[in-house]
Amino acid sequence: MERPNAWKTYDAKALEALEKYSAEYRYYLDNGKTERECVTETVAMAKANGYTDLADAVKAGKKLVPGDKVYVNCMGKALMLFHIGAAPLEKGINIVGSHIDSPRMDLKQNPFYEDTDIAYADTHYYGGIKKYQWVARALALHGVVVKKDGTTVNVVIGEKDDDPVVGISDLLPHLGADQMKKTLAEGIDGEGLDVMVCGKPLEGEEKEAVKAGLLNILKETYGIEEEDMLSAEIEVVPAGKTRDYGLDRSMLLGYGHDDRVCAYASVAAQFELPAVPAYTCCCLLADKEEIGSVGATGMRAHYFENAVAELINLTYDNYSELLVRRALAACRMLSCDVSAGYDPLYAHAFEKKNAAILGRGVCYNKFTGSRGKSGSNDANAEFLGRLRNIMDNNNVCWQTAELGRVDVGGGGTIAYICALYGMEVVDSGVAVLSMHAPQEIISKADLYEAIKAYKAFMIEG
Ligand code: MN
Ligand code: MN
Repeated sequence: MERPNAWKTYDAKALEALEKYSAEYRYYLDNGKTERECVTETVAMAKANGYTDLADAVKAGKKLVPGDKVYVNCMGKALMLFHIGAAPLEKGINIVGSHIDSPRMDLKQNPFYEDTDIAYADTHYYGGIKKYQWVARALALHGVVVKKDGTTVNVVIGEKDDDPVVGISDLLPHLGADQMKKTLAEGIDGEGLDVMVCGKPLEGEEKEAVKAGLLNILKETYGIEEEDMLSAEIEVVPAGKTRDYGLDRSMLLGYGHDDRVCAYASVAAQFELPAVPAYTCCCLLADKEEIGSVGATGMRAHYFENAVAELINLTYDNYSELLVRRALAACRMLSCDVSAGYDPLYAHAFEKKNAAILGRGVCYNKFTGSRGKSGSNDANAEFLGRLRNIMDNNNVCWQTAELGRVDVGGGGTIAYICALYGMEVVDSGVAVLSMHAPQEIISKADLYEAIKAYKAFMIEG
């Protein structure tokens, strides 16, 4: 049951559409290197596509009707777009849900120190990273500093061509004999992920003059005091733009494909829905997936449920808790997250006939988890059967996948959390090589097929 390569199915028109989406996605990725930036960018796109803030409708007590489009911004870090369909909400919502946080390093609350005429920013890594991949490369700083008076300073340093970049140094091989005897996990220590930020003493300063220089720059450029870092969220991410990858330009190399490739695909699909879809459609962008979907903006929080309650209240004359529960249980969902692409260089980690192959289209992972499917959402065969029909009817190239060989490892997504409501959920995403590395690889064909799949699912699911 080998699946065909999607590239073989394209005519000139399809290739043109594929390149258009790829270019848009590159822009989305380059301007969304943090969950906050992704929300800001997506809200702007949603407004341009006729979406308004659900909070405004709630405040005005304005009823919603089929065809209405609203968004829910959850603390600027998670987002939901709802396009109201013809069927009442108790018939369920077609959801495409992904996550917009990516592995990275966060500045600590007391980040700055000086050692031997170099000023450093101390970090705490976020998500599952191979630490050795993050040294000796150009890094950028993205995030917010919130002052005591509530004002927010947005920071992006290291992305413009003439911006400075920062980074973490590595030991030279000449002196690295002991380091290189260590395992890859131990070679770079988490506490050693300190970012070099300045190297010139401030004139007239005697003590810690380089750090004083850093604080001077922060003060002059951003009006930030050292103490303001106590209430800051600054993420250290790879600097630079997404690039075409491969001599044939068939792939994309960039930071944060996990899971912004699915986020972008679901947003793009959402904007192409008919004026009044059969069922209400929801594009959901969650935060904190990489650290277990925790916190107020992670999928385990109740923002989706709360939004559905508001929608019930604004689309029915007789709000009831029972209607909310019925609506939640009747939903159908693609939990859109990336899958491990089969890598011939690491063939030992995969079982080839059940692995996601780059270029063979959107993947369906019936289950994730580790060992004996532990922690997994195991999707129903009935739901998969219906999806097969929808995919084939819409000429979507798709494949099924497992993360890797049975006993090798595992992973999770937001699927099992949404399944708690009793809705049908299956994982569906794009194959990625070098997942969680500073620069990950996807095939443009898989991005294109994901958009086709998500659109077909929302319209016919
Ligand atoms: Mn993911
Ligand atoms: Mn991940």
